[in-house]
Amino acid sequence: MTPLVAATATTTSATPALLALGLLLLAGYAAACWLWPFRACTRCHGTGKFRSPSGHAWRYCNRCSGKGAQLRLGRHVWNALTRR
Ligand SMILES: [Zn+2]
Repeated sequence: MTPLVAATATTTSATPALLALGLLLLAGYAAACWLWPFRACTRCHGTGKFRSPSGHAWRYCNRCSGKGAQLRLGRHVWNALTRR
């Protein structure tokens, strides 16, 4: 985690309780993205493939390349920040 920048209390009236709640939710979301980095692909709904109308033939989903999983937004941001 990045060190928190000291909030400069100058004009805004954001209550500390609200700020703490926001940080708590953010921490919870970050933890959830760390534990469960994937969500079901929106294109194929997690199945990873599309069936033909006949039901016999199928092809892999292009978006998730057949995995049926997509990185969640939080994990995507984390990877972008830590990669390099
Ligand atoms: Zn997919």
